[in-house]
Amino acid sequence: MNGVEIPVEVPAALSGDGPLVVAMDGPSGTGKSSVSRRLATRLGARYLDTGAMYRVATLRVLRAGVDLTDPEAISAAVRELPLTIGTDPGREVIELDGEDVSAEIRGDAVTKAVSAVSAVAEVRELLVARQRELTASAGRIVVEGRDIGTVVLPTADAKIYLTASAQARAQRRNQQNISEGRGDDYAAVLADVQRRDTLDSTRAVSPLRPAADAVLVDTSELGMDEVIDELYRVVAQQISTTGRVK
Ligand code: C5P
Repeated sequence: MNGVEIPVEVPAALSGDGPLVVAMDGPSGTGKSSVSRRLATRLGARYLDTGAMYRVATLRVLRAGVDLTDPEAISAAVRELPLTIGTDPGREVIELDGEDVSAEIRGDAVTKAVSAVSAVAEVRELLVARQRELTASAGRIVVEGRDIGTVVLPTADAKIYLTASAQARAQRRNQQNISEGRGDDYAAVLADVQRRDTLDSTRAVSPLRPAADAVLVDTSELGMDEVIDELYRVVAQQISTTGRVK
C-alpha cells in the first residue's frame, strides 16, 4: 500500500448496538421503504415507517366518512387513534384498533386521500409526537418519511435524502402493484407520483424538501445492493464528520 487510497474507517457506532438515529427522507417510489428496512437490518437497528402512520390515520378518516376538504373534521377523526406500529425491520406490524390493516393502507382509496390528511397541521403534530417517542424508546433506529431530517428529528446522527426521476419511481411502483396483484397501469401511476410530489412539496406544513445537512442519494440507476452499500458508506461518513455518535 502506497497510501494512495485512504480507507474510510468504520466508526464504532456503526458496528455496535449503541444509540444511532438515521433519518431517511424523500419522495415516494425511490425504494425508500425497502432500503430503509434493509439498512436498519444491516445496522442492527429498529425501523419506523412514518408513511404507514399517515396511511393509518387516513384509513381512520375514510372509515369515519369525513369530508376530506374539512381539516377540523379530519383532526377530530384522528384525535383518538388506536394505532399500533411495530419497529422490527424483519416483521411488519400495522394495526388500527387491533385489526391488521397493513394491506388495506396500501390500497387505492388510502393512497389517493393520504396527501389531504397529512397536510392537516394537527394530524402532523399528533403523529410527530408519536414518532419522537418511538425513536427515543428504540434508541438505535432508521426512521423513514418526508420530514424526518427537517422537522421530526433535526438532531439525527445521519440524514439521507433519497431521490430518483419521476419515471424511475413510477416504474418501480407499477412493478410493485403488478407483483402484489393491483394491476398494471404505468401512465396512471406516473400521474399519481407527479400529483403527490406536487402536493407534498407545496403544502404549507412541513413541505417535502431535503434538510440542509442531508446527503442526497439518487437511486434511479442503482440496484438494491448498490443503494445499501452507498447508504452504509454515507452514514459512516456522516457520523465521522458530525462526530455526534462516538
Ligand atoms: O411513504 P408513503 O408513500 O407510504 O407515504 C404516504 C404519504 O404520507 C405521503 O405521500 C405523504 O403525503 C405522507 N407522509 C408525510 N410525512 C411523512 C411520511 C409520509 O406527509 N413523514
